[in-house]
Amino acid sequence: MSSHNLAADLRPLVDGDLFTAENDLAAYSEDFGRLVYRKPAIVVQPSTSRSVSKVMEYANRHSIPVSTRGEAHSQTGQSLVEEGIVISTRGLNQIGQLDHPRSMVPCQSGVVWGDLVRHLDTQGLVPRVLTNNLGVTVGGTLSVAGIGICSFRHGVQGDNVLSLEVVTPTGEIMRCSESENASLFNLVRSGLGQFGIITEAEILVRERLPRNRTYMLLYDNLEAVLNDSKKIMQEGRLDYIESWCVPLPVGFKEEDGRKRAFGEWFFPLHITREFSPDQPPKEAEDLAGLSPYRTSHVEDRSALDFAFRLEPLFELWKRSPYWGNTHPWMEVILPWEASSFYVKTVLEKIPPPMLGGGHILLWPSSGRTSKVPLFKRPPGEFVLGFGILPGIPKDYVQPVLEALDKASAASMMFGGKRYLSGWVRFSRDQWKQHWGEDWNRLCDAKKQLDPNRILNPSFIDFE
Ligand SMILES: Cc1cc2nc3c(=O)[nH]c(=O)nc-3n(C[C@H](O)[C@H](O)[C@H](O)COP(=O)(O)OP(=O)(O)OC[C@H]3O[C@@H](n4cnc5c(N)ncnc54)[C@H](O)[C@@H]3O)c2cc1C
Repeated sequence: MSSHNLAADLRPLVDGDLFTAENDLAAYSEDFGRLVYRKPAIVVQPSTSRSVSKVMEYANRHSIPVSTRGEAHSQTGQSLVEEGIVISTRGLNQIGQLDHPRSMVPCQSGVVWGDLVRHLDTQGLVPRVLTNNLGVTVGGTLSVAGIGICSFRHGVQGDNVLSLEVVTPTGEIMRCSESENASLFNLVRSGLGQFGIITEAEILVRERLPRNRTYMLLYDNLEAVLNDSKKIMQEGRLDYIESWCVPLPVGFKEEDGRKRAFGEWFFPLHITREFSPDQPPKEAEDLAGLSPYRTSHVEDRSALDFAFRLEPLFELWKRSPYWGNTHPWMEVILPWEASSFYVKTVLEKIPPPMLGGGHILLWPSSGRTSKVPLFKRPPGEFVLGFGILPGIPKDYVQPVLEALDKASAASMMFGGKRYLSGWVRFSRDQWKQHWGEDWNRLCDAKKQLDPNRILNPSFIDFE
């Protein structure tokens, strides 16, 4: 159906904006990955669940493909659709009244986490789990998982919602939670927008202390940083934990008849405690028994500054060529026991220039705190998230994609589970392997909830 006809049909159904101009459609044809291009026929930006429901009912009746799009920070076209309808959640941006007794704030799914953080901070509150990037939407992260640097304690963002309002692919508006329509609740959390559109979420919040102290430690040894991370998590002595791998280019060496750039790796570990000014942290106690190569810096900041701590990095990225490049990010959650060997092997094979200014993330966490069934991670008490986050000019990306596909396949051989917002090029067998015993149930649920397969059609190869 042409953009023109769609606009005429959808206009009376939608409270909110509709876009069909070429430059608007172009803006909604790419995501942060800049690797996939799919041009929609129309973009609708509803401001009510009712409008979302009417659009879905219409799309289902006419078998028109639909993708839900938050801020499109995913990287393999998860939020894009070819010649269909993009439902942009930017118009679903209202934050509701705080429910103090239930420690919960309701909000629409297009609310950007950063806005919610600012809103709650004035009341001394914070969402229980925050992602590093606060420029993404509530619906976008709940649909993937929403991993944060205190997930070792509180699970992912999907664990920290009391209930959701969902519009099904046939246009029904449903509430779901652990006790009401639980199967839908468990399909839309980490369901990659395949089973319904989240329109509202009741988000758990907690009181936070006003200040944060971060110890910025540096390691020159992977085992040491992993051991210290495990110790911190086991003892629960600090509130937040995050780490990276940083290459130091050393030179070029001869390999297979070619000169190849190589480097050594260092590992910053940032560990943070919340505190009240009348009870300052005791550094000797906080760092007791840890064995960094060096303590680089200790930083005290407000809770709000801490939540936005990576903004300077993102600003730098935005002002450098990195932002405009392709971003085939490959993230995986590894079994703790296999993680050191896997990470070392991969790091040995990554020439420093391959990152193009990006970095490599280490995310030590508990394997037990999340209960979201579709957020797949390996069994075991601890797990290690590992992410290669390059920014590559389009002309040079093909060999990098091949290398990343190999690293992805190898991680799965080691029992890892991919995090699905990044660069994912799975065969049907890999999808089956990823979902494991849930695969048949998911295929059945897709058939039942989305009989015309209109919702986010191009990502998962369902049977
Ligand atoms: C710089 C950067 C840092 C990041 N840091 C983290 C991090 O610390 N932790 C982490 O977990 N992730 C992180 N990510 C990944 C990011 O959180 C995910 O890509 C997230 O999905 C992006 O949210 P979005 O609003 O952009 O969603 P989109 O990319 O627009 O959508 C993602 C998926 O969710 C679906 N979707 C979106 N909204 C809805 C809805 N309302 N209902 C149903 N389905 C929906 C889409 O169809 C798509 O499949 C980071 C990404 C970037 C670029």
